[in-house]
Amino acid sequence: MSKRTADDIDSTSALKSGLAVLFKDGQYSDLIIHCGDDRHKVHKGAVCAQSSFFDTARNGDFDEARSGLVTLHADDPAVVSAMLSHMYTFDYEVKLTDNDTTETETHRLLFHANVYAMGEKGAHSVKDAARKKFREAVQSQWSEAIFPDAVKLVYETTPQNDRGLRNVVTKLAAGHARELLTADNDRFRTMMGQVADFGRDLSMELAFLPQVGKDYPAYECPMCERVFTLKDQSNVGKFHCPECNRLRWVNQWEKYRYIFE
Ligand SMILES: [Zn+2]
Repeated sequence: MSKRTADDIDSTSALKSGLAVLFKDGQYSDLIIHCGDDRHKVHKGAVCAQSSFFDTARNGDFDEARSGLVTLHADDPAVVSAMLSHMYTFDYEVKLTDNDTTETETHRLLFHANVYAMGEKGAHSVKDAARKKFREAVQSQWSEAIFPDAVKLVYETTPQNDRGLRNVVTKLAAGHARELLTADNDRFRTMMGQVADFGRDLSMELAFLPQVGKDYPAYECPMCERVFTLKDQSNVGKFHCPECNRLRWVNQWEKYRYIFE
């Protein structure tokens, strides 16, 4: 593939800003997408090329095909708007709905999950963007009350073979399984009981996690009795006890290997 020149980059950014203007102004629009109170003046060439859903609606024997109007009855207007925005600007922003007056972490997380689900109507690029944003937002939220709700939403809005968001929440939950499955985490445990597919996915993930003491070694510090593990021993000549900071060579630590019963 040849290198991109400065002229190419200029043309690309000109095309991008042109598309953004078309979306904003609705000029030359030949299709209207109606959702809630929103009427988006869009372009068949842009949305149908990216989305098989709109392409089918346009070509099918629907009212839509004749009238140049597609009505989305069941969808969230804010999410539809985000999807269309991404089709023209290659990005979208979290939009507030009537129920949310401020943009919270919770709102952001659920919004990205909904945009991902909406991506079934939109382009794959919308799903990719929503997955990245969801993944980023959820990393710090696993211990929050919202996490079980987010898992439930992901499993309710995506089909079983769509692993995009399911893998994200499953891997995150597996990494924090002990904390999440403690007796006082009622919300998480209740959700586990309701979402059977997630229970299965989490069990699979946990079954294949490296096992402490089996797949990688554990040591018991002779000074402070702290048991700890080193997941990656490559390039380690000596290492500290994480509790008392005692430094020993690898072969000295070998005497204090801790065997799990
Ligand atoms: Zn120690």
